[in-house]
Amino acid sequence: MEMRYPRYVVIHHTAGHDVPALTINSYHAQRGFGVKLTSPRYLVEEYIARGFNKVLGGVIVSIGYHYLIRADGTVEKGRPDFIRGAHCRAQNMNFRSIGIALTGNFDSMDNPRGEKGLMEPTSAQMTALRELVFYLMKIYQIPKEQVIRHEHVKNAATRCPGDRFVFKV
Ligand SMILES: [Zn+2]
Repeated sequence: MEMRYPRYVVIHHTAGHDVPALTINSYHAQRGFGVKLTSPRYLVEEYIARGFNKVLGGVIVSIGYHYLIRADGTVEKGRPDFIRGAHCRAQNMNFRSIGIALTGNFDSMDNPRGEKGLMEPTSAQMTALRELVFYLMKIYQIPKEQVIRHEHVKNAATRCPGDRFVFKV
């Protein structure tokens, strides 16, 4: 089992509608993002109970983010923190960071009228994000300069999480 110790937090929007982690999981499964989690056993059982895909000796977790923040402020666990992400290839960030995504499409060019999801984060999402980020900074000793937007990762050709997303640590 690969173990990772994150040094960054990378923030995303999902660029889509407010859907559960399991739905994002199925999208990411189609893109081949799955990793097999085999231990610890109690964690494997937890993912199986949540509806993730059980396989021989473990469970497949495909959602690329470590956390998903829903419109109502609910934080849904994506992949375990100690498993590499599938959310930002640039700068090898999948191996160096915790990926958090907020449901919605906060880009005014891509989603001018809200047809692709929430146009801006809800206050419940922002409250949950702030709490989660401070918690992660504390447990992993991540400095605030290393809590970054996806678009600010060097060579990441994206506008994610969009211009309508404003956050300062
Ligand atoms: Zn992103």
